[in-house]
Amino acid sequence: DYLNFQPQANSLENKVILVSGASDGLGQCAAIEYAKLGADLVLLGRNRHKLAQTIERVNQYPIQTLAIDLDLAIASAEDYQSLAANINAQWHRLDGALLSAGILGELCGIKDIRLADFDEVININLRSQLLLTQALLPLLNNAPMSSLVLTTSTVGHIGKAQWGSYAMSKFAVEGLTQTLADEYKETSLRVNCINPGATRTSMRAQAKPDEDPLILKTPQDIMPTYFYLMDDSSAHINGYCLDAQPK
Ligand code: NDP
Repeated sequence: DYLNFQPQANSLENKVILVSGASDGLGQCAAIEYAKLGADLVLLGRNRHKLAQTIERVNQYPIQTLAIDLDLAIASAEDYQSLAANINAQWHRLDGALLSAGILGELCGIKDIRLADFDEVININLRSQLLLTQALLPLLNNAPMSSLVLTTSTVGHIGKAQWGSYAMSKFAVEGLTQTLADEYKETSLRVNCINPGATRTSMRAQAKPDEDPLILKTPQDIMPTYFYLMDDSSAHINGYCLDAQPK
């Protein structure tokens, strides 16, 4: 039962893991927890000051880090290639990547979606995930065993009124996950996505401003799934969407 998965101490020692969205919310929490378990980390975020706070926290552990502030809305294919070259120079491989960065965009009915907002959401939540994945694949394939984890949402497999562009972007993220998982099924790379479920972060507060955040699980509470998918015990899991909270 992965929802109660407890990693062994130092279980991620000798692994290099990239985390996008490491400057806030779920990505930040996962980065700190992976550091505690001994992983070397590549940290991506947009806001340099927030990313610096994550770096300070992970550097309390004896690990190597590489932090890069990259705005996924404007990054070019060359930016992704140079990121991959930097990782290659330091480690030659990636044992795991958690793609947690994302935006909510405007919540509104389909008839009211503004094209500029749609483009921004699709750009960050989908196009940049594709470009990042393409750049990281050679590094993931260089590791003896590797795990790529994308992030979806319940509205990524069940359409819901008013969730607009965000829902469409997450349906596509699940398509990316399943397609890639099938393409690499004979290899030592596995590709899955996590559905965090409602979690106490700024994105959730933006989606539900009237909700009491104290009723929500914290990022820390839902880490077992984030541990499980980076741990060797999930080596046989490929092409799945795992809920990080019980239904
Ligand atoms: P947060 O808003 O707390 O964090 C989002 C992260 O994405 C931040 O690190 C942010 O960077 C980064 N990001 C956003 N835009 C860009 C960009 N243009 N370039 C680079 N980085 C960017 O959200 P959560 O932690 O809640 O969400 C994490 C993932 O989980 C998302 O994919 C979200 O869709 C998904 N999710 C969350 C749920 C929830 O209830 N919280 C429920 C279901 C899914 P910065 O801070 O530097 O701007």
